[in-house]
Amino acid sequence: MYVCFFKTNIMYKRFSLSIVSLLLISFSLHAVEGMWLPILLKELNEKEMKAMGMRISADDLYAINQASLKDAVFIFGGGCTSEIISDQGLLLTNHHCGYSQIQAHSSLQNDYLKYGFWAKSLDEELPNKGLTATRIVRMENVTSQVLNGATRNDGSLDQQIIDNNIKRIIEQSVAGTHYDASVKPFYYGNEYYLFITETFKDIRLVGAPPSLIGKFGGDTDNWMWPRHTGDFSIFRIYTDANNNPAEYSLNNRPYKPLHHFPISLKGIKENDFTLIYGFPGRTQEYLPSPMVSLIMHDLNPIRIRIRSKALSIIDQAMASSDELRIKYAAKQSRISNAYKKWIGETRGLKKLDALKVKNVIEAQFERATIGTYYETLLNKFDKWVLDFRMYALANDYYNELIFSGPEIIRYAYNYVKFVKNYPDLKSSGKLDESIESLRNGANGYFKNYDLATDRKIMLAVLPMFIDGINPSLGPSYLFDELSRYKKNYDVFVNDLYTRSLFSEQKKVIDCLNSINDKSIQKIKNDPAYKLAESIYSSYFDKINNQYEEADQYIQTGMYHYMKALLKYLPNAKKYYPDANSTLRVAYGKVEGFSPNDGTWYHWQTTIDGVMAKYIPDDTEFDLDQRFIDLYNKRQYGRYGEGNTLPLAFTASNHTTGGNSGSPVLNADGHLIGINFDRAWESTMSDIMYDPERCRNISCDIRYVLWVIDVYAGASNLIKEMTIVQ
Ligand code: ASP
Repeated sequence: MYVCFFKTNIMYKRFSLSIVSLLLISFSLHAVEGMWLPILLKELNEKEMKAMGMRISADDLYAINQASLKDAVFIFGGGCTSEIISDQGLLLTNHHCGYSQIQAHSSLQNDYLKYGFWAKSLDEELPNKGLTATRIVRMENVTSQVLNGATRNDGSLDQQIIDNNIKRIIEQSVAGTHYDASVKPFYYGNEYYLFITETFKDIRLVGAPPSLIGKFGGDTDNWMWPRHTGDFSIFRIYTDANNNPAEYSLNNRPYKPLHHFPISLKGIKENDFTLIYGFPGRTQEYLPSPMVSLIMHDLNPIRIRIRSKALSIIDQAMASSDELRIKYAAKQSRISNAYKKWIGETRGLKKLDALKVKNVIEAQFERATIGTYYETLLNKFDKWVLDFRMYALANDYYNELIFSGPEIIRYAYNYVKFVKNYPDLKSSGKLDESIESLRNGANGYFKNYDLATDRKIMLAVLPMFIDGINPSLGPSYLFDELSRYKKNYDVFVNDLYTRSLFSEQKKVIDCLNSINDKSIQKIKNDPAYKLAESIYSSYFDKINNQYEEADQYIQTGMYHYMKALLKYLPNAKKYYPDANSTLRVAYGKVEGFSPNDGTWYHWQTTIDGVMAKYIPDDTEFDLDQRFIDLYNKRQYGRYGEGNTLPLAFTASNHTTGGNSGSPVLNADGHLIGINFDRAWESTMSDIMYDPERCRNISCDIRYVLWVIDVYAGASNLIKEMTIVQ
């Protein structure tokens, strides 16, 4: 999913449950749009879910006094979902979610990316520093406590009061436990929920298919249907002797979960009920037209243009050697995933005529609110978005330069912080500790770094940043330097990488080995240091607060807009809360779709399609002999259906980034697949959902089990699972 260092324009709001209940009475049986809060399913959705075929109850999905299905759904790392599939804490997620861990364990000698990895016993499982898995213990509506004493006007909300209330609620709710708590706004701050969580810190890699299965189709197929990717990897949660979270230790033992998902081998049919349980990251379904226009016409194009340049260089480097392929694999995936999504999203919004659709609702809104406080609200958005636009564009330019551009800027910035703290570190006796951490950082950083590639990226991306950014918001030092170089980027960039100590591990380590006042001065004069310092300080001086202030008007505007939409246009839309990385349920059915006039996509793919796409020696569509032999012998074990092996399927579950790795459940709450993507024609669903065209893509659990059992021979893992035939 898209990880963004600088500001993201996330907006929040809320409304009252009783209003929602009234709204939902009018739902049709094919309502599939929405990501619903598990705690409200009984009241809001259960009836409809049962009418669509679900055989379990809302209480089976979410309960706090007894184990329920929610206890098997975990946040994986920073932004994916995972699920427990054995009573020994076996955790299933996507290959692309475990990718950086698989990559971190890979080397030319042990190329797990290329050949896969399978632990045949517990002691072969690999620890992953920093990786966590988190479950929701319980959630609770705390709106009245959070908003107690707070009022809102245009562009301002009593954030201090809200923050203090939240702090108190959090402290009280976890006192004396090993749990964590967070309070999150819903419906742009109209409603707030408390989440009590339990975070496990010893998560070990158990199994991963080779990329020729786990990433089959590569970027060409990413976000595409028909799809043939076995996008899964397996981890295991370890705990202390009391089944509680603990840091990594050889004494830890496999987690005994409250629930693990039984796995269904019964198969899937068109129109079957499906349910996705997971942690969708971010949607913005209620934005008014000026914001949608900003995303479609300004922000997405900037991001796409810059990433396209960076990716062309990374792709070339990765194709040139195995060493560079491994070094850049995880970075390439991160950059290209969002890049391709934004292309699909922009196209989808255009196709839906999204601005027109929004304008229709806005005209209704204006008619319905005549004579009220909200009458002029939408006009205000025009101005607010205009004021916000200049900072939003600049924010994206900085963001893309730092996170999709050359890494040396980000890396050198660590030293800007270090140099700033140097006098304090020295006087407090913490200097050695800090140097040691930079030394470790250097080892990790340079393992995945290639000077020539980074220099090429700098040469490609820096001019785009300079040409695109509003000069008054750019780093003056950089402008001055470039004019000193007469805008000769070749010479500027070459000089920078040749002279900077941050371009080579040896230079960095030598410097760290002899840190003193003199070497600090040398660091301060380093060209990459100066560049990083100027870029970051210019961002913090000219964008950070200004962006936030401008955004505040939009956010509080959204709070009012949402409130008024519910009050004055209650039937215009099903008002589920936007995704905000909290636990949600999306339900729908197994179905195909027509993305374009004259095209119909079947809902299912099989292993036959893998073979049809096979291109020997291709970086994305290659296969190995074992796979081909098993296919030729039709050796599908108990996982096949007819003469083939089902591989992936589409369904009408409303999902987004963060739902990667989510369990796909059937009407009985049994695992039938693992969610990993959406069709490209669906990606506008983060802003505007289209029930006709929006489909999530899941890997059929039978294919996952076939890879583990038959292809990899890891039957030790299958034995742990509860299989329903
Ligand atoms: N592929 C997405 C992810 O990486 C899932 C989605 O957006 O549908 O989270």
